[in-house]
Amino acid sequence: CGIVGYIGQKDTQEVLIEGLKKLEYRGYDSAGIAVFTDQGLQIAKAKGRIANLESKLEVTPLVGNAGIGHTRWATHGKPSDVNSHPHTDNSHKFSVVHNGIVENYMELKDELIEQGHIFVSETDTEVISHLIAREYDGDIVKAVQQAITHMRGAFALGVLTEYEPEKLVAVRQASPLIIGIGEGENFIGSDIPAILQYTRNVYILNDGEMAVLTKDSVELMTIEGNFISREMIHVDWDA
Ligand code: GLU
Repeated sequence: CGIVGYIGQKDTQEVLIEGLKKLEYRGYDSAGIAVFTDQGLQIAKAKGRIANLESKLEVTPLVGNAGIGHTRWATHGKPSDVNSHPHTDNSHKFSVVHNGIVENYMELKDELIEQGHIFVSETDTEVISHLIAREYDGDIVKAVQQAITHMRGAFALGVLTEYEPEKLVAVRQASPLIIGIGEGENFIGSDIPAILQYTRNVYILNDGEMAVLTKDSVELMTIEGNFISREMIHVDWDA
């Protein structure tokens, strides 16, 4: 139900948790984060309050310079640790947070299972991480674009891959998503309050648009890959 993402030099885990707390008002039944650590892409997630996730992170903090976070409002699959986001694929090289519904996930899941993919959750979201892994051929932006062509429904996505740790990919298709612009750091969020304590400069994505973030740059394009320019909005209100 809520997405947050960060790439930069701050304590990623803290930025993600703070952002998720700002999204709590949207309602949720579980929460999770994925962070690039020295050991690669590491995921922590828990059913219930964000405090449950924080307890896990107290035992095993995730330290790194990029990450994605999610509060889930279950639509497909009961609230549980394993159904919580982020989701990954069998190689564990890709990580996805998703708001919305993949309407044709059953047929995609059947197809992927036939192709040898093994699913661990009951969610519609998990097909997205498997699809991206299947389509990946050295370029995460192309892989996400390819994956989307197979998907019907509503989605806002945050995507990370261990193969390109300097990039965070965001997609908006009928679920809200904004981009926060910092200095030497950039953010994504379901809404402006999620990132407002870190930056007041934002791009609002429209449906059918995506963004590729590094810590120093933000590229906006359509999901077909046509680059677009957008006026930056300066937010002068407080959440
Ligand atoms: N459909 C997804 C799920 O049930 C995402 C729900 C959401 O937007 O939080 O896991």
